[in-house]
Amino acid sequence: MLQPALSLVLEALKEIRESQEKTFRVSRATLNRLLESRRHQNVPDIAGRAASLGQVRDRVCVCTKCPHLARSRTQTVFGVGNPDAELMFIGEAPGADEDARGEPFVGRAGQLLTRIIETMGLSRDEVYIANILKCRPDMPKGTPGNRPPTPQEMQTCIGYLIEQIEIIQPRVMVALGATAVEGLLGARGVMRELRGRWHSYHDTPLMITYHPSYLLRNQSPGEKRKVWEDMMAVLEELDRPISERQRNYFL
Ligand code: URA
Repeated sequence: MLQPALSLVLEALKEIRESQEKTFRVSRATLNRLLESRRHQNVPDIAGRAASLGQVRDRVCVCTKCPHLARSRTQTVFGVGNPDAELMFIGEAPGADEDARGEPFVGRAGQLLTRIIETMGLSRDEVYIANILKCRPDMPKGTPGNRPPTPQEMQTCIGYLIEQIEIIQPRVMVALGATAVEGLLGARGVMRELRGRWHSYHDTPLMITYHPSYLLRNQSPGEKRKVWEDMMAVLEELDRPISERQRNYFL
């Protein structure tokens, strides 16, 4: 509501400044300062971000850049959550459950991720969840399970995720597992060495942690605790309070 009024005042000041009338004056420096502050306020609102994401989603839905994946998928899996999210989780690619439902992280690993998010005091609707790949990596007919995306598939698809990040502009990002790290940072590393500390994705703080499916395979409390410690670091970075109960929590 304030924005149009501010624009009117600025336009009026500019006109006065440019006319030679000896009326109320504003210095060039002050005018520039006001115009500059308006530029910084020009961040799209939530509806604008939702609309921009919708445009990217429309392109993803009909994407055939990887013809083999376009043929094998049930549907694309774009992303889910708040277009204005402060926190964004990035996984690798949809599996069979996600391909069937059209939503990321809805299978067993997804249920664990949801539990992690909720234990952080957040909800799936508050954060944004997306993958490096928008199609399920195809499997030979009759073969159960999922496979990780190839570097070629990631390179082909990553542009869509970059657009999502640019629209949402999260304060903090979390990369889940080595494939997400490779997709975002372009290099494969050893998770044991990468996780638990801050990295940066184009100036946005990036926490690297284990993929929930790793925790499903490796039930050791120590590994689960590490992921939880990574998530507490994320809460701190977001200036969110951490309760005593949360501090003592083991996933
Ligand atoms: N694993 C992922 O990386 N992404 C999903 O959406 C589901 C499982």
